[in-house]
Amino acid sequence: MDVAVFNTKSYDRTFLSEANGDGRHRLTFLEPHLTEETAVLAAGHTAVCAFVNDRLDGATLNKLNSVGVSLVALRCAGFNNVDLSAAKALGIKVARVPAYSPHAVAEHTMALILALNRRIHRAYNRVREGNFALEGLLGFDLAGKTAGVVGTGKIGELVVRILTGFGCRVLVHDVAQNQAVVSMGATYVPFTELAAGSDLITLHCPLTPQTHHLIDADTIALMKPGIMLVNTSRGAVVDTAAVLDGLKSGQIGSVALDVYEEEGDFFFEDLSNRFISDDLFARLLTFPNVLITGHQAFFTREALSGIAETTIGNLTAFEKTGRALHEISIEKIG
Ligand code: NAD
Repeated sequence: MDVAVFNTKSYDRTFLSEANGDGRHRLTFLEPHLTEETAVLAAGHTAVCAFVNDRLDGATLNKLNSVGVSLVALRCAGFNNVDLSAAKALGIKVARVPAYSPHAVAEHTMALILALNRRIHRAYNRVREGNFALEGLLGFDLAGKTAGVVGTGKIGELVVRILTGFGCRVLVHDVAQNQAVVSMGATYVPFTELAAGSDLITLHCPLTPQTHHLIDADTIALMKPGIMLVNTSRGAVVDTAAVLDGLKSGQIGSVALDVYEEEGDFFFEDLSNRFISDDLFARLLTFPNVLITGHQAFFTREALSGIAETTIGNLTAFEKTGRALHEISIEKIG
């Protein structure tokens, strides 16, 4: 099948080419993001392959439809960037990679928690400059603290396991209970109870209308002063302006982010020779108690290989049967 692969980096080419070992699919690797303007590049291809920061709104899907595309194969789990109603109306199928090494994201979450708590990001620079002072590097023992985990699916479950291993008491919140985390000793509580009772909160729910700005000024006000907040889920689960206010007032003690509300404008690109035009983001970077990575939690060999294999599996199944292995539709998500 002819597939236009948008928004590709060297690592996408490497892992997708490897998974497409027998050359069954003709993959055209394109650098531009998929947008209404670039959709025309998909002409002559049956499918497009897109990533989290491609914008598959109604206008883009219309363009894709007009050039003959009938499948969108997302090489990611989240699909909040796709207008599923528009896809259905146009008869375009949408497939995704529902799971690929949840360990990658869970382990990165723990890396952020540990680095932020012990200020490793500051210590690294200090020692390189011959500054061995400890002022400003004070952390806390994780053992005995209460961790709040929002979303106990594949990633959240692993995070609960890791935090339990560190000796944390774990409060969890989800719309559906996962018995595995209960058997690890975690306790399901309403979100407000989790917010009020946790020393650190880490987010592992999808971005939905219900979770949009779940962390806002009201919920931040419920939290223990000095809370550590960690987000590796989706940027807009957090109201960034409210977090900034919380940091300024000291209500929030520290923040680690792998995702950001407006990340689509600059994540995954090297902008080091330019300036950051997003003032909220730039302001966040001025805090010593803020640690940000650029949506890299998924970025392990195992995860990239899993993503590529499932994506090729989706393409092959669609070519053979007209149905991808992991289709999502407006009906399925209700
Ligand atoms: P999952 O579907 O296995 O688990 C998500 C959990 O969130 C489910 O248990 C679901 O019931 C729960 N949930 C849904 N709505 C909720 C709500 N309103 N309140 C509380 N919980 C709710 O997904 P996963 O594989 O564990 O991934 C979790 C999220 O991590 C994804 O949706 C994605 O946004 C994010 N993610 C980030 C990266 C990264 O690189 N930073 C990589 C993969 C996934």
